[in-house]
Amino acid sequence: MKLPTLDAHTFSCTLPSSGKNITMRPYLVREEKLLLMAQASDNYDDHVSAIAQIITNCTNGEINPKQVPYFDIEYLLLQLRSHSVGEISSPLYVCHNKPNKDEVECGHQTPVKVNLTEIPVTGLNQPAEKFVIKLSDQYTLHLRYPTVYTVHKLTMAVVNKNVMSHNFFMEAICDLFATLESHVDGKIYEFEEFTTVEKMEFLESLSTRNYEELVKFLDIMPTVEKSIQFTCEKCQFEHSITLTGVTDFLD
Ligand SMILES: [Zn+2]
Repeated sequence: MKLPTLDAHTFSCTLPSSGKNITMRPYLVREEKLLLMAQASDNYDDHVSAIAQIITNCTNGEINPKQVPYFDIEYLLLQLRSHSVGEISSPLYVCHNKPNKDEVECGHQTPVKVNLTEIPVTGLNQPAEKFVIKLSDQYTLHLRYPTVYTVHKLTMAVVNKNVMSHNFFMEAICDLFATLESHVDGKIYEFEEFTTVEKMEFLESLSTRNYEELVKFLDIMPTVEKSIQFTCEKCQFEHSITLTGVTDFLD
């Protein structure tokens, strides 16, 4: 006799990038195990693959982490946490106030209560021209938002202090390429159809000015963000802070 399979309840959720309604289920013991294993590992590849696997599992394959912007993943992770563990999260915030003006920081860690169902994605609705770089009279480059894999490469560029760092950064920049439009014959090149080596060669052929425009595009990445006020439990200082990015919200 086979044990029955339990049906998890589902909930619906709106994808910030497209406004599309999707159905999700909370994460279960199997996904929690994935998260714990990833957290215990020093390998950043494990972290990104755990996140990708959890999003794929809990959306029943409806969301492909390779295709959607990173801020969608951040938002979905907060929704998942809220439906799987609870709506209220209490990340710790370290107080940097100097109560007696004696140069010693308070340092107390206050749990800051946030309702995860009320965290919006800010920075959406960027003007269309931000996604376009005119390379020459012949070619226009169209950009797309970074994915979770792009953010992973950017992290690797920061944590690696060697020659690999620059390579990771360049690969992250290549991830921003969506299409190349030719004004000569109207041809559209889809970057997805090209290899990393081909994309890197293309990137290396760009002018330094175009390269700077690409790097600047990383600054307009929308993210989950909320400003909150709270009082330090120890020195009673009234803090006004902005939590930004998924890790700021999780306890
Ligand atoms: Zn304090």
